[in-house]
Amino acid sequence: MWITTEPESEILAQMATDDAARERSVRNETLFRQVNERVRDVSEAFSALDPSEINFVCECGDEQCTEPVSLTLAEYEQVRGVPTHFFVVPGHVIPKVEVVVRRSEGHVVVEKLPGQSDVAVETDPRP
Ligand SMILES: [Zn+2]
Repeated sequence: MWITTEPESEILAQMATDDAARERSVRNETLFRQVNERVRDVSEAFSALDPSEINFVCECGDEQCTEPVSLTLAEYEQVRGVPTHFFVVPGHVIPKVEVVVRRSEGHVVVEKLPGQSDVAVETDPRP
């Protein structure tokens, strides 16, 4: 069977791929958010022993990324208090889907741009 590729359909395919990639990156970030919720739960049980920073996982869109991000429980709660906010390692910001809200030592807090935030709100572990 012949597969014809017209320029127009290539552009459409490209757009679809772009959308899929964007969607995947947001899904990935929300996945790591679930992971970090578990980290928080476990860490909270030990917080009486160690009130310092907790090693969470970078919530960037790269599914290969498992870089640790240190936050205090208070910092973590502040980010998690907003469904469209995520924290990433400095340099892991994807300007196409998010904007920087604030920078701290060792991490950057980002907010999903409109259109990306639907997924973020949809999958909010704390509705
Ligand atoms: Zn990352």
